[in-house]
Amino acid sequence: MYVVRIKEVEGKLVVKNSKPCDNCIKLMRLFNVKRVFYTNDDGEFVCEKVKSDKLTNRLSAAFRIQNPGNFWRIKK
Ligand SMILES: [Zn+2]
Repeated sequence: MYVVRIKEVEGKLVVKNSKPCDNCIKLMRLFNVKRVFYTNDDGEFVCEKVKSDKLTNRLSAAFRIQNPGNFWRIKK
């Protein structure tokens, strides 16, 4: 699976960090996704095994904005 986040900064499109959040990782595991490629802040692709513990980090900013005051997480 490929994840890319693009943001407009001063009229230019810039590739930003798109590391998947805990909920996305859990869903990827549920659907048996083996590898995820995501972009880092330097605009480079990083490849990680979905099983890797390095991926479990946090909830994305978008998730927190959509769910204010709600720390609900998908259970395994
Ligand atoms: Zn997510």
